[in-house]
Amino acid sequence: MIDWNYKNENQIFSICEREGVPYLSFKALEATGLVKNGFSTRLGGASKGKFATMNFSYSRGDEPQDVLENFTRMARALEVDRDRMVVSYQTHTVNVRRVTKEDEGKGVIRERDYRDVDGLITNVPGITLVTFYADCVPLYLVDTVHRAIGLSHSGWRGTVNRMGQITLDAMGEAFGTDPKDVVACIGPSICRDCFEVGAEVAEAFGSAFAPKWHSLLFSPNGKPGKYQLDLWKANEIIFLEAGVRPENIHTTNICTMCNSGYLFSHRRVGEERGNLGAFLCLK
Ligand SMILES: [Zn+2]
Repeated sequence: MIDWNYKNENQIFSICEREGVPYLSFKALEATGLVKNGFSTRLGGASKGKFATMNFSYSRGDEPQDVLENFTRMARALEVDRDRMVVSYQTHTVNVRRVTKEDEGKGVIRERDYRDVDGLITNVPGITLVTFYADCVPLYLVDTVHRAIGLSHSGWRGTVNRMGQITLDAMGEAFGTDPKDVVACIGPSICRDCFEVGAEVAEAFGSAFAPKWHSLLFSPNGKPGKYQLDLWKANEIIFLEAGVRPENIHTTNICTMCNSGYLFSHRRVGEERGNLGAFLCLK
C-alpha cells in the first residue's frame, strides 16, 4: 500500500494495481472510454540496485533483460501489447513524431531508427505510446472526436518552448484535431515547492509568458538569484492559450520529488536512478 504525499485533495488519479504492478491512471482519461493510460512507480519491477525496481531505460546501465521484463509486466498490468509499444528518444526537444504501424516495438524489442523525439502522436488503435520521466512533465492528450492521442515529455525546456501547444498543432495537422475536443492531462512531475531554478530559467519563462502570468509561474524564494518555478501551472496556461477547455485540463497532485520513495526523482538522487514510464494507448 503506497502512502502518497498529495499536493491537494483533488481526486485526479485512480490508484491501480494489477499483476503485482502498481500504477497511476487519470480518471479523466478513463472517462473518455477511448484509451488505456498509466504512469508507473518504482514498484513491481525486476530491476535491482539504483534501478529498483521498475526502470524503463535501456541507456542508464541497467540489465537489458530486466528492462524488457519491466515492459512485459507493465504491458500485462495495462492489458496492452508489449510488442506494439513505441518509445520516444528524449533530448529536451519539441520534436513530435507521428507513430504508425511501421514503428511498433521500436525502443522496446527493436532499435529505434529515429532520435531527438520528445513527443509521440498516433491514431492507430493498439499502439501504446511510451515516454520517460524523473521529474519532467508528462503531457497526455486525447482527441475524443478524431480518436487520436499524443504523449509528450515537457521539462522546463520543453515547457518554455510550449511542447503542449506544439503537440496539439501536430495532432491538428495529422488528424484534424481541434483543441476544444481534447482532454489534456499533466502527469506526475516536480512540484513548485520542490523546483528551485536560477535566474536564467526564471527569465526564460518571463519572456515566454505574458506578464499577467508571472506571479503564478515563478517567485523569488529568498536565496540570491533563486526562484521556485511552477511547471504544472505553466503547462495549464499553455493548454488554455491553445484552446483546450478549462474543464478538460487535469493536473497532477502527485510530485515525483515529494514521493521519491515510490517515484524516480532526478532532483532527489541525480543520475543514479532509473526512469519512470508514461503509457497511453488508443483502444
Ligand atoms: Zn514536490
